[in-house]
Amino acid sequence: MGLSRHNSPMAQSLNIAITGAGIMGLSAAYALSQTGHKVTLYDPLMADGGFPADNASLMAGGMLAPYAEIEHMPAAFIEAGLEGIKIWQNITPEQIIQNGSLLIAHDEDRYILERFKQHLPPEKQTSAHTLEPQLSQKFTGSLYLKEEAHLDPAPTLSKLCEKLKALGCNFQSSTYSPHNKDYDHIIDCRGMGATQDDPDLRGVKGEILIVQNKEFSLSRPVRLMHPRYPLYIVPRADNIFMIGATNIESAGDGVSLRSGLELMSALYSLHPSFAEAQILEIKAGIRPAYPDNLPRITVKDNVISCNGLFRHGFLLAPVMAECVADYIENRHNKFIDLFWRDNNDPDHQRSEKELRSAA
Ligand SMILES: Cc1cc2nc3c(=O)[nH]c(=O)nc-3n(C[C@H](O)[C@H](O)[C@H](O)COP(=O)(O)OP(=O)(O)OC[C@H]3O[C@@H](n4cnc5c(N)ncnc54)[C@H](O)[C@@H]3O)c2cc1C
Repeated sequence: MGLSRHNSPMAQSLNIAITGAGIMGLSAAYALSQTGHKVTLYDPLMADGGFPADNASLMAGGMLAPYAEIEHMPAAFIEAGLEGIKIWQNITPEQIIQNGSLLIAHDEDRYILERFKQHLPPEKQTSAHTLEPQLSQKFTGSLYLKEEAHLDPAPTLSKLCEKLKALGCNFQSSTYSPHNKDYDHIIDCRGMGATQDDPDLRGVKGEILIVQNKEFSLSRPVRLMHPRYPLYIVPRADNIFMIGATNIESAGDGVSLRSGLELMSALYSLHPSFAEAQILEIKAGIRPAYPDNLPRITVKDNVISCNGLFRHGFLLAPVMAECVADYIENRHNKFIDLFWRDNNDPDHQRSEKELRSAA
């Protein structure tokens, strides 16, 4: 990154409103409060006292997986994703587990793993199928992505709220319209709440299953590469596992019977002990996404909108938040161009300079 925000003097303390306390709003609140700005965070779903809101962020897998997600974003985002992991390690180091992640496939599906490897630089194409002993006999083909990390969203978001309170952030359990002009800046992080103002935004449903299986353990997220039922499984405390997730072009609620069956049979194919697992929850979340599935920072007057985080809210929100803080303080951030998108621009990119002059 360019200048370190934490070492340089702040020009002026600004009065900033943030609408939305998902991972984007909380990350922005952290980056801006830490710099000494006066931040008020609005979200009607947030309980009084600032406990995390029940939104898409609370439902996420919490994987910080820039390489495993390479089929869903251009390679230029890998570096930003690695930066995201670094920022998380500064914000809530106790919540981050950096044991990498493992991609596996049944023997008949190994071609999918081989095809996936082609997206990665040769030095990242490492096999390590013995890393997860309960899977190593059945799945001999594997890909180990050792820089990747994961976190559990609920305790991490709670911790982040605590840190924000300590930094003096003001929590308001109510809506706020970014059209109001009574703050120096408004950071619009409403996720799907912004669809009325942003016709490009759409919802992509992700269905998840949470189970407890005392006969099984994992040290890292595992992705099963499968032609019809790709699945990931993220370990949490107490032998609890989050299994996800479908990518359905719909913003409707609820989990279909078919998706439930597919998730459960793919899970059972991973290890037979899941036959006796206890189902704790089965639910769906809506990911805010733009047509290119890439997140955007857009600026209009004093409103800075950060949205479209799709499958990568935990991975990329902290990086976008630092871009916003650096932008407000007129500092260079090498990632800002990555997030600026303009549909009228043939290559969908604008330089930081143009972004500033648009403000
Ligand atoms: C099943 C599933 C699994 C996922 N797994 C991962 C993963 O492993 N790793 C990863 O990086 N990402 C993952 N994601 C993606 C990630 O969850 C999203 O990208 C992220 O939650 C988007 O965050 P957000 O803050 O933009 O939106 P949200 O979390 O939806 O938050 C938006 C908030 O804005 C509030 N709001 C709306 N209107 C207003 C208003 N007028 N005033 C004030 N507040 C308002 C809403 O109440 C809401 O709380 C997953 C998503 C799903 C659904």
